[in-house]
Amino acid sequence: MTIYPKLIRDALATVRYPGTGKNIVEAGMLEDNIRIEGNKVSFSLIFEKPTDPFMKSVIKAAETAILTYVGPDVDIVGNISVKTIQQARPEVGKLLPQVKNIIAVSSGKGGVGKSTVAANLAVALVKLGYKVGLLDADIFGPSMPKMFQVEDARPYAEMIDGRDMIIPIEKYGIKLLSIGFFVNPEQATLWRGGMASNALKQLIGDAAWGELDYFLIDLPPGTSDIHLTIVQTLAVTGAVVVSTPQAVALADARKGINMFTNDKVGVPILGLVENMAWFTPAELPQNRYYIFGKEGAKRLAEEMHVPLLGQIPIVQSICESGDEGKPVALDEDTMTGRAFIRLAEELVRQTDKRNAEQAPTRIVQTHK
Ligand code: ADP
Repeated sequence: MTIYPKLIRDALATVRYPGTGKNIVEAGMLEDNIRIEGNKVSFSLIFEKPTDPFMKSVIKAAETAILTYVGPDVDIVGNISVKTIQQARPEVGKLLPQVKNIIAVSSGKGGVGKSTVAANLAVALVKLGYKVGLLDADIFGPSMPKMFQVEDARPYAEMIDGRDMIIPIEKYGIKLLSIGFFVNPEQATLWRGGMASNALKQLIGDAAWGELDYFLIDLPPGTSDIHLTIVQTLAVTGAVVVSTPQAVALADARKGINMFTNDKVGVPILGLVENMAWFTPAELPQNRYYIFGKEGAKRLAEEMHVPLLGQIPIVQSICESGDEGKPVALDEDTMTGRAFIRLAEELVRQTDKRNAEQAPTRIVQTHK
């Protein structure tokens, strides 16, 4: 009998975690480390806490599911190890040893300007003097190659310290990799979750990102396997959530915030960005038209106790410059360029604040 990882995964998908009622694969409790040697199968299950009351019963159920589903000869009993969330998430130092801050840029809904904000934030952070990397992980609509006018670029690999490493493209001082360099967007929807996650892990772990102050990850909209992969692979410093002030976008942004902050994921929200906050026509610069409603994201930020990083108006040049591959933040002298620089400054402030809160408290000794 040949045992495949998929068989094990399918068997485990029949086991429910009583705490949430979700199956343990869907709940992200199966670590991606299934080992099969002959008929011996081992892997780890990830629990939130070492004191999880369901741990024993879930392990027992997992063993039974494999013996029933795959076959009675599988050597599994006693081979399931347990990790808690903290152990399962490697330290930043392990995977990207020279990266100081990893920022996930996300949105509840597509089309709210998440990629536009990520691209312009990256440019603005470079303007502020930081070393910046940008990973376009939006598998269903990778837009960074277009926004940076590098659609024809083909990243190459180079042997570094005995390992084949992907060399990121460099544009406007940003190190850039996009899943779009590797996938034909028309085929993206055919990718099974696992394939996309593995490709992303490679773009993170097997690329020569080098020393970075900020590593921005442009996530797909909504919540998906990709989100889980990112938070399980990397110690994300925090998330930026982009929304328009429109009610339907806000409802999804709220879900996005809850996903990041829930106990299992535990990624802090650095702030909310209100994009398309109002429209100002070029010929009437004083007028603001609140097309998608007024200050909806601002109110959501207050209600959910997360910072509002900034409000970006709807301006034709933001859209056009995105299409031309020259993000508006490249020009600090424009109103829109300045808006993104201010947004980046606020992101830096919130990140520093978060890092200071997490730093071990210094014990100050007083001498009499
Ligand atoms: P998402 O990544 O959320 O799907 P995009 O960043 O691709 O959204 O933006 C969707 C469209 O809206 C793009 O054509 C983009 O140029 C445009 N856009 C985004 N933000 C603005 C803005 N503030 N003003 C004008 N157009 C914008």
